Amino acid sequence: MAGKIDGELRARAARVIPGGMYGHQSVALLPPHAPQFFVRAEGAYLWDADGNRYIDFMCGYGPNLFGYCHPEIDAAYARQMAEIDVATGPTPRMVELAEAFTGMVTHADWAMFCKNGTDASSMALLTARAYRGRKKVLMASGAYHGAAPWCTPIPAGTVEDDRAHFIYYQYNDVRSLEHAVALAGDDLAAIFASPFKHDVFVDQELPDPAYARRARELCDEKDALLLVDDIRAGFRIERNCSWAHLGVEPDLSTWGKAIANGHPISALLGNDRAREAASKIYVTGSFWFAGAAMAASLETLRLIRETDYLERTIALGDRLRIGLAAIARARGINLSQTGPSQMPLIMIVDDEGHCDFENSSAFADGMIAGGAYFHPFHNMFIGAAMSEADIDRALEIADGVAKRISASAVV
Ligand SMILES: *Cc1c(COP(=O)(O)O)cnc(C)c1O
Repeated sequence: MAGKIDGELRARAARVIPGGMYGHQSVALLPPHAPQFFVRAEGAYLWDADGNRYIDFMCGYGPNLFGYCHPEIDAAYARQMAEIDVATGPTPRMVELAEAFTGMVTHADWAMFCKNGTDASSMALLTARAYRGRKKVLMASGAYHGAAPWCTPIPAGTVEDDRAHFIYYQYNDVRSLEHAVALAGDDLAAIFASPFKHDVFVDQELPDPAYARRARELCDEKDALLLVDDIRAGFRIERNCSWAHLGVEPDLSTWGKAIANGHPISALLGNDRAREAASKIYVTGSFWFAGAAMAASLETLRLIRETDYLERTIALGDRLRIGLAAIARARGINLSQTGPSQMPLIMIVDDEGHCDFENSSAFADGMIAGGAYFHPFHNMFIGAAMSEADIDRALEIADGVAKRISASAVV
């Protein structure tokens, strides 16, 4: 729980960092026991600045897949670091990594690498518009694709023109998607889709196969590009693009977060249809070609191919979900658990199913105070380094918290 040292660091941060912290790492909206600063992370655990340990159900908001400080991945990183990292040109790792990705992701014929998911999203946007020289891009309303002016969820500092050529549809709603396509007329560049609906504050939704297939069809009819934003869910749903199991192959997919188990790298993958457009756009960054994160990603992809991490995270997620459902029933709490169990969104909801912000916060707060880092309104992540005992410990904490919440609701 946030202690004395955390408090002192926050006071200092408030003087030298705008708002004390920014972006998704700001704890301003999180419950009171959420610490702002951490000093150590290993395997499934995090330690805050005051030395408290947490089972980390946020996994760094996605990057941690195999556990913090993973020995093989970090050794690959360190070996490459000792040879060459950022330099005047890229290393052979770049070719090897593009080969590894195109070997694993069935829709992909090529890969480009960058640093953040937002870089990949922006590169996808340029590619889509360069493809046929068209402007309109469809996105699901409420979907997160990054923090550039065209997609940031908080409009401060942006102008209306930044979003002039975006049309918004309702996720999983074929009619609304068709309507948006009609609005774009003959100026449709692309449809952007999340692999499943993983917006904040509202229940997650798995993709309706009819919606995914219709998105593919509409792009084919209009000669536009279909993008799946797999930055958050990539390799947490399958060892391929997350729509592959639906039989829907996009033209472009974006990747980030877990692809190097926390080392900074993201990617845009594409098929041959999009290759020429991708070779025309000018995109680059001083650190995009760095070898060490690519070496870490190569090792992460090897572990993705060769271990049962995916089946493990699903089994652990199911164990948490089933346990929490039993606790909620026994304690009379309206707990909603949505999305894939390995990427659960867990909220206390009111009778209409809307997030009960106060009780969701109280629930996450109790979990954090008890030593399990939970989030009140953002999806969480199950890591492959977690054990059954970690899940059971979290359930034990949850039972105590649920008991307190249901007792206070009676008053
Ligand atoms: C995190 C995320 C992004 C942006 O990635 P950054 O690395 O934070 O820039 C884009 N899309 C989705 C779905 C994300 O979860």
